[in-house]
Amino acid sequence: MGRVALVTGGSRGIGAAIAIALKKAGYRVAVNYCGGDEVAARFSVDNDIPAYRWDVSDYEACIAGIARVEADLGPVEVLVNNAGITRDAMFHKMTVEQWKEVVDTNLSGVFNMTHPIWPGMRERKFGRVINISSINGQKGQAGQVNYSAAKAGDIGFTKALAQEGARVGITVNVICPGYIGTEMVRAMDETVLKERVLPQIPVGRLGEPEEMARIAVFLASDDSGFITGSTITANGGQYIA
Ligand code: NDP
Repeated sequence: MGRVALVTGGSRGIGAAIAIALKKAGYRVAVNYCGGDEVAARFSVDNDIPAYRWDVSDYEACIAGIARVEADLGPVEVLVNNAGITRDAMFHKMTVEQWKEVVDTNLSGVFNMTHPIWPGMRERKFGRVINISSINGQKGQAGQVNYSAAKAGDIGFTKALAQEGARVGITVNVICPGYIGTEMVRAMDETVLKERVLPQIPVGRLGEPEEMARIAVFLASDDSGFITGSTITANGGQYIA
């Protein structure tokens, strides 16, 4: 039987593509989501992947959710921390709530999910933690001080934890996607997309969720055991770190 993989925010977008690709690669996959019951139910039926609802910003909810997944599928060996949100505003207009929501979900969510799963990975001497950060965590983005700070935090988290996991067979890596053609980005005004977004991307197109998924599948595999603490930049050349 394949290893067990859990993808947070896996009911749509990049997370859904990662979950589907892991399943195709032979993993027993579960996804988590937060509020979109209908979308998650459709994803689950269409792809035969169980979906579990909880909020990654809530530590106790993560412990309970992970316990449900592990009771159904077995110990989580591959964790993909993908759940993320934006609450954009220029800094002088940013509210404390916008700051907290983004940091609690995009940064503390990574702690909340990884912390309960880590001891089991240590005991079994195998684990793969794959965090999904962003180009904007690398370069910063006006209007996204909260998001850029949280996503940069995910990179620091990855580098530090990789050093702790290395001797016990656990790798920790982070993928930094650029503009990816998820519903959110494709819903953008056509003119804005053509005149403002695409000219920033040297390869001249958006990335595909499946391209991020192929990176995640490689990082999850036994073949990637020598890669840890890495920041994988995947942005069509938009920002070369
Ligand atoms: P989407 O908005 O398409 O999907 C987000 C997913 O996360 C949904 O499944 C959503 O569930 C879930 N989610 C949101 N908040 C929570 C929460 N508190 N607890 C549990 N699940 C939650 O996102 P994308 O696919 O666009 O992005 C995925 C990741 O990639 C994010 O971390 C994002 O920051 C990052 N990224 C995306 C880029 C892009 O161009 N799309 C570029 C760079 C990085 P529900 O629907 O139930 O709320």
